[in-house]
Amino acid sequence: MSVIDLRSDTVTQPTPAMLDAMTAADTGDDVYGEDPTVNRLEAELAKRLGFAAALFVPTGTMSNLLGLMAHCERGDEYIVGQQAHTYKYEGGGAAVLGSIQPQPLEVQADGSLDLDQVAAAIKPDDFHFARSRLLALENTMQGKVLPLDYLARARRFTQDHGLQLHLDGARLYNAAVKLGVDAREITQYFDSVSVCLSKGLGAPVGSVLCGSVELIGKARRLRKMVGGGMRQAGLLAAAGLYALDHHVERLADDHANAQRLADGLREAGFVVEPVQTNMVYVQMGDKAEALKAFAGERGIKLSAAARLRMVTHMDVKRAQIEQVIATFIEFSRQ
Ligand SMILES: *Cc1c(COP(=O)(O)O)cnc(C)c1O
Repeated sequence: MSVIDLRSDTVTQPTPAMLDAMTAADTGDDVYGEDPTVNRLEAELAKRLGFAAALFVPTGTMSNLLGLMAHCERGDEYIVGQQAHTYKYEGGGAAVLGSIQPQPLEVQADGSLDLDQVAAAIKPDDFHFARSRLLALENTMQGKVLPLDYLARARRFTQDHGLQLHLDGARLYNAAVKLGVDAREITQYFDSVSVCLSKGLGAPVGSVLCGSVELIGKARRLRKMVGGGMRQAGLLAAAGLYALDHHVERLADDHANAQRLADGLREAGFVVEPVQTNMVYVQMGDKAEALKAFAGERGIKLSAAARLRMVTHMDVKRAQIEQVIATFIEFSRQ
């Protein structure tokens, strides 16, 4: 029985062609800056996203942490979504390791932060307060794509208020593919961007932080400090380069599969949120645990949240989506 794992798009296995690219990679010691494949990945992504420099790191959590720490000093503050990954799902790292105070704000229905609320949260220059330094956005945010005109407004807003602007772009390419634009159309508005290679792009490991030469220089020092300086990391960077060349356009398939899953479940009477990219949210209420067990016995791995998230990715094919819909229907009829 082949397993259908919808818990996250992090569960993908490297394809044979990706593994070939990895074993063929030239490597060196990246802490010495001598891994040619890592250097190529960093240069390539910096170029593609319109930045002067980039840094390869093991995880998106580290990439965001280094970005926040490179922008903010001890006692500075960053403004962030209450539901954002950097605030809620990264162990409080910015506060714990960076002494950066988060100022969380409720995320709006469209995934954005209300700029009037951000303005009200910015602290005056007064020794009572932390220094408001940075605004952090996330795109996609729980599968939602931030509109380009909102990003343009956020850019002007942060310039007017002397804030830096960071993007947690773990799923940047899902947003770009959904909008049908070059990823640069999104990243042009930001001072720094973190991109995950290990989500929908299908690489086994790795994220990249992009920014100015100065910012990435600081981040490189911080990466060593937190133990993220890897040696022959070209093996991993090769997977990332392969993913950037071969797995971006195909994200549209994941989006179509997510849409089909949502439509099928809605037709079957389930309460499903509108889908934009590769995430489907279904209201399961107190049935979530039972569904997880029922689906698990049929080879479908789900989380067990009342607001159940299912994520499509390259290891889930269209026929399997139909199988998942059928399983939900079977579950609802028992
Ligand atoms: C997955 C993810 C990250 C980083 O996660 P890692 O597991 O540390 O690579 C950051 N932000 C968002 C929005 C994510 O989904």
